[in-house]
Amino acid sequence: MDLLGTLRGILAAGELLTGEACEPYLVDHRRLYRGRALAVALPRSVEAVARVLAACDAARVGVVPHGGNTGYCGGATPDESGTQLVLALKYLNRIRGVDAANYSLTAEAGCLLERVQEAAAGAGRYFPLSLGSQGSCQIGGNLSTNAGGVHVLRYGMMRDLVLGLEVVLADGRVLNGLTALRKDNTGYDIRGLFLGAEGTLGVITAATLKLFPQIESTATAFAAVADPRAAVALLARLRAASGDTISSFELVPRLALELTTAHIPGITDPLGTPHPWYVLCELGSARAAEPLEALLTEALGAALEAGLVRDAVLARSGRERAALWKIRETIPEAQRHEGPGLKHDISVPVSALPEFVERGAGWIAAHVPQARLIAYGHVGDGNLHFNLQGRAGADGAALLARADEVRRALHDLAVSLGGSFSAEHGIGRLKVAELERYAPATELALMHAVKRALDPHGIMNPGKVLRSG
Ligand SMILES: Cc1cc2nc3c(=O)[nH]c(=O)nc-3n(C[C@H](O)[C@H](O)[C@H](O)COP(=O)(O)OP(=O)(O)OC[C@H]3O[C@@H](n4cnc5c(N)ncnc54)[C@H](O)[C@@H]3O)c2cc1C
Repeated sequence: MDLLGTLRGILAAGELLTGEACEPYLVDHRRLYRGRALAVALPRSVEAVARVLAACDAARVGVVPHGGNTGYCGGATPDESGTQLVLALKYLNRIRGVDAANYSLTAEAGCLLERVQEAAAGAGRYFPLSLGSQGSCQIGGNLSTNAGGVHVLRYGMMRDLVLGLEVVLADGRVLNGLTALRKDNTGYDIRGLFLGAEGTLGVITAATLKLFPQIESTATAFAAVADPRAAVALLARLRAASGDTISSFELVPRLALELTTAHIPGITDPLGTPHPWYVLCELGSARAAEPLEALLTEALGAALEAGLVRDAVLARSGRERAALWKIRETIPEAQRHEGPGLKHDISVPVSALPEFVERGAGWIAAHVPQARLIAYGHVGDGNLHFNLQGRAGADGAALLARADEVRRALHDLAVSLGGSFSAEHGIGRLKVAELERYAPATELALMHAVKRALDPHGIMNPGKVLRSG
């Protein structure tokens, strides 16, 4: 029997799409890649995932795991050959259980991130991963990209939020590692291999995640600073002054504020007079009575006196807090209104961030004067989305034609400062050559060895992360 016949024997009607019905699974959300597929499988059980992978392994057919399709690197899109199977996890979407006393929750891979946050809240607990895409991305995608977001400063990346994993290997064997233990020193960290592997080593079907005490009080401020150097100095001060209760510390350049006020309905400048840079900063505590507002007001007042902060406003209500966050969260959408741009997701040690911005901005001004720089994001994690936007009315295609040269200059700069060319978005298809250029040779060789050991026939997401063949 051919593979499609075998798959029809495993999956119920409606769980195997072919032809036109595959369309929504063939393009990444940024529309950088369009592929073709043999079919799309939508299994509803771990056993079905296992049988599908075993069949594909036997037939040597590539499998592309597909979560919420919000990834930035084309990892969930099949290639153009039309021979690969897309395996979408969206029907594997049960919350298997919440253990409030153990501060843990077990969810299947197809659960939306937002649903996991809600299930934790329903049990009086808190799941801290928070992304602009949380209404569409899935836990399996978050694990496979090792997602970051706006709370990394306090809670770490997705990798830090995992206790156990259930994974179907390329040959169909199920690795049941759904432990809920915080201590378990029993040999190599095999489960850790699948975090950030972007579906190249197996299919994650469920995970046991760490929960935290529910956040009962927050204080949020939008503060104007002269430059990223002042922002980094302010962060260091606030960490100490707040007893390290900072959960977010995000950088917003003036241009990003101008674009959001121009393109996103309801956004206004919270400070009135223009300033070159801003930080959106939030403290959070599990104690309802914690005087966070007073603490933040006092700390920002002291920073103002010291000349680190130029002006600041505190959110006085939930509505004001949401309005401040809306500025930060709609920057990508506002950028889209301005036409095509070049995006980079770099990280450096927080202390090196001011130098990166100064030198990076200098390089752009000298070499790509037609571009406007929008450097924003998770400055508390040393991670910036260092994006170039064409000037209004300028030739967008001319800017895109410079992509390789700009990428090279900025990635070389980040790496020379001890940084990374991909802080939180992964490799996918987009950055395979970058990984080959920057990864130490020994590390790259080990990655290939792990890939061969876990996926000897190379069926798992071929050509993503590592070049196949
Ligand atoms: C508006 C917006 C804001 C964003 N903000 C952030 C942010 O702040 N921080 C951040 O890190 N990212 C951010 N992202 C990127 C994206 O949301 C994350 O990378 C997310 O983790 C991807 O999840 P997904 O379910 O959409 O995965 P997909 O895009 O479907 O897949 C991503 C990769 O994981 C693989 N995969 C998916 N599911 C599985 C599985 N079950 N088993 C094995 N492999 C699998 C796919 O093959 C692919 O390689 C943002 C995206 C958008 C659109």
